Amino acid sequence: MAPRKLVAGNWKMNGDLAALDQVDEIAKAAQDAGCDVLICPPALLVHAMKARAGDMLLVGGQDCHTKASGAHTGDIAARQLCDVGATHVIVGHSERRADHSETSEDVAAKAAAAHEAGLTAIICLGETEDQRDAGSTLEVIAAQLAASVPSGATAGNTVVAYEPVWAIGTGRVPDTAQIAEVHDKLRQDLCAQLPDGAEVTLLYGGSVKAGNAAEIFAIPNVDGALVGGASLAAADFVPIIRAMT
Ligand code: PEP
Repeated sequence: MAPRKLVAGNWKMNGDLAALDQVDEIAKAAQDAGCDVLICPPALLVHAMKARAGDMLLVGGQDCHTKASGAHTGDIAARQLCDVGATHVIVGHSERRADHSETSEDVAAKAAAAHEAGLTAIICLGETEDQRDAGSTLEVIAAQLAASVPSGATAGNTVVAYEPVWAIGTGRVPDTAQIAEVHDKLRQDLCAQLPDGAEVTLLYGGSVKAGNAAEIFAIPNVDGALVGGASLAAADFVPIIRAMT
């Protein structure tokens, strides 16, 4: 089976209840889309977004704890996300790796917790600008993938997002050959690591916009996008969804 196509929005620490007014427009576009459409708002908004979107849109979290419950003030368990309607959770976003010193081993434990709760884990990885300049991109990506994907991962419960750190929120995007090279490597490694690695959805993330989405979606082994800034307003996000259709 071919990987499922997915356009996912990561609202990061943006949005409020009023921002949910645009969910109807996004949900309508999602209904007409030839792909799954997911929004990961701040955890506080997951329940309200799901209530508003119903089955028309997938809703996810941006992080989860490695444990199922317990004395971890301020953290959120995967099961709690599931309980309020989430189907997915992002783990290992470069902002979490940087701001919270998360290692790939932490990311694998979070992905395993997500799987245990029945969520699909969107495992993020990507090189820094220094690593790209040093020519070590493929090596960095391979090491992150090997360490971040837990045992028990399958195409049914795992999505991998390649997000070069230097492209996130900067307006800079790797050229198509650079994206193709990394996604080809990820596909090869996933096929070696998982029995159904050929079916794992591979997203590109980093300054995806309406103007570059179609070109990025045409790259082999790119099955969709993880979109930050351009997912915050329906006027920006809907054309990206349509670019996949
Ligand atoms: C992201 O943070 O996952 C992201 C891809 O951000 P942006 O689209 O704003 O670069």
